[in-house]
Amino acid sequence: MVAPMPIRFDAIVIGAGQAGPSLAARLTAAGRTVALVERKLFGGTCVNTGCTPTKTMVASAYAAHQARRSAFYGVTLNGPVSVDIKAVKARQEAISGKSRANVEGWLRGMQNCTVYHGHARFESAHEVRVGAELLTAEQVFLNVGGRAAIPDLPGIHQVKYLTNTSLLQLEVLPRHLVIVGGSYVGVEFGQMFRRFGSDVTIVERETRLVPHEDEDVSAAVKDILENEGIHIRLRAECINFEPRGEDVAVGVNCQSDETAVVGSDVLLALGRRPNTDDLGLERAGVEVDAHDYIVVDDQLRTRAPGIWAMGDCNGKGAFTHTAYNDFEIVAANLLDNDPRRVSGRLPAYALYMDPPLGRVGLTEEAVRRSGKPALIGTRPMTKVSRALEKGETEGFMKVLVDAGTKQILGAAILGTGGDEAIHCILDIMYARAPFTTIQRAVHIHPTVSELIPTMLGDLKPLS
Ligand SMILES: Cc1cc2nc3c(=O)[nH]c(=O)nc-3n(C[C@H](O)[C@H](O)[C@H](O)COP(=O)(O)OP(=O)(O)OC[C@H]3O[C@@H](n4cnc5c(N)ncnc54)[C@H](O)[C@@H]3O)c2cc1C
Repeated sequence: MVAPMPIRFDAIVIGAGQAGPSLAARLTAAGRTVALVERKLFGGTCVNTGCTPTKTMVASAYAAHQARRSAFYGVTLNGPVSVDIKAVKARQEAISGKSRANVEGWLRGMQNCTVYHGHARFESAHEVRVGAELLTAEQVFLNVGGRAAIPDLPGIHQVKYLTNTSLLQLEVLPRHLVIVGGSYVGVEFGQMFRRFGSDVTIVERETRLVPHEDEDVSAAVKDILENEGIHIRLRAECINFEPRGEDVAVGVNCQSDETAVVGSDVLLALGRRPNTDDLGLERAGVEVDAHDYIVVDDQLRTRAPGIWAMGDCNGKGAFTHTAYNDFEIVAANLLDNDPRRVSGRLPAYALYMDPPLGRVGLTEEAVRRSGKPALIGTRPMTKVSRALEKGETEGFMKVLVDAGTKQILGAAILGTGGDEAIHCILDIMYARAPFTTIQRAVHIHPTVSELIPTMLGDLKPLS
C-alpha cells in the first residue's frame, strides 16, 4: 500500500493555549498557510481549568465573605449566608465556555488556517501526525502547556484525589477539603472553598506557605487564612495517603505518631508538569531538560531547526501573560524583524487570594542574596485610606530599590487592589526610570496606588 501524501502547510501550531491561536492569526495574516492542532479544549488551561474558572469562583467566594461581614458595613441580612455550589459552577462554566467557543470560532473562521481536533505527535522534525492525517511544514510551533503533577507519594494510588481540573466539576461541597500543597494554587482554592462553607486544611511540606515569597509575605498569608478558620499544617515532611472508610487520611509525619488529617476530599496542588511526554519530541530532535521542559534559547527556538516552543512547556514562565508574551517574541522575530527576547521580560504575577498579592521583580530575600546595596520601604494596609474605607486592611506593601541607580528592583503589594496597583511599579521598572519618577507623579485619591509615592518617600537602607 502506498503511504498517503502528507498535507503541506507553511506552519504547524500544536496547542490552542495562550500563544498558538494568536501566532496562527499573525502567520495567516502574513499570507502563510497554518495547521492548528488542539487535542482537547480550545483556549487551553487558562480558559478552561485555570485562570478563568478560578477567578470566577474567587469572585463568588468574595461575595459570600462580604455577605457574612455585612453587619460590619451596616447592612442587614435576614438569615444565614450559604453557597449554592451548582450555581457557582454554572456561572464559572458559562464564562469559561463562552471564552472557549470564541477561541474555537476565531480559529475555524480564520482564512488560511486549518483546524485539526486531535492529538499531535512528531513523525520526524517536520512531519506531525494527527490521527490518520500526516501534516508537514517547514516551521512547527509548540504551545502544548502543562497539567497537574501527580508525584508518586506513598498510598496516592489507593485513594481518590482531585486536581485543579476535577475540582471544578464538584456539585457537592466537600465536608472537609484537605489540600496538599500550600503554594499559589493551593492557597487560592483553600480560601475559596472555606468561604463556600467547607472545612479546609492545607498541608505543606515546607516551613511556610507560598515558599517562593518573602517570609513576611508567607506569614501574612498564613494569618489571613487562619483568621478565616483554615487549618494549616506546615513541615509535613512525609506526606502519605490511606483510605479511611469513605474519607481519606493524609499522613503528615513518618517518624512520630502524629494524627493524620482526615478529609472527605483531597486536592493535589503540588505543581505542574509539561505536556511533553507524548509528543514524539525525540523523533524531531527537540531536547528537554531534567524536568521535561523543552529547552529553548532567548528567542524561543528549540535545539531542532525550524521548531519553536512557547508558553508553559518551555519552563520560562508559568502564566498566561508569559505564554502570550512568548507569542509576541516569536512573532516579532519572525514577522517584524524585531529581535525581542525572553530576557527582556520582568517577572510579574499575582496570587488571587483575597486580598490579592501583586508581585514584580526580585523578592527582598533575593536582593539580600545579591549583596547589592539597596533601600527598602514598607507600609501596612492599615495606613492606606482606601483600604480603611473599604474595610479591607489586611496585608502590606513593600518595595526594594537599588541604592546606586535608584531603580526599583522589586515590590510586593499584598492588599486590596494589590493586583492592579503593582502595575505602576511594573511600568516604571520597564521604563528603567528611577523611583523618584513615581514620587513626582500625582496619583488619584483615594487609591491604593497613591500611597506608593509616600512609601518611596520613606526608604531605609536594607540592613
Ligand atoms: C488553577 C490554576 C489557576 C491559574 N491561574 C492563573 C492566573 O490567574 N493568571 C495566570 O497568568 N496564570 C494562571 N494559571 C496558569 C495559566 O493557566 C497557564 O500559565 C497558561 O494557561 C499557559 O498557557 P499555555 O499556552 O502555555 O498552555 P495551555 O493553556 O495549557 O495550552 C496548551 C494546549 O495544548 C494542547 N495540547 C497539549 N498537547 C497536545 C498535543 N500533543 N496535541 C494537540 N494539542 C495538545 C492542550 O490540550 C492545551 O489546550 C493558572 C493555572 C492553574 C492550573
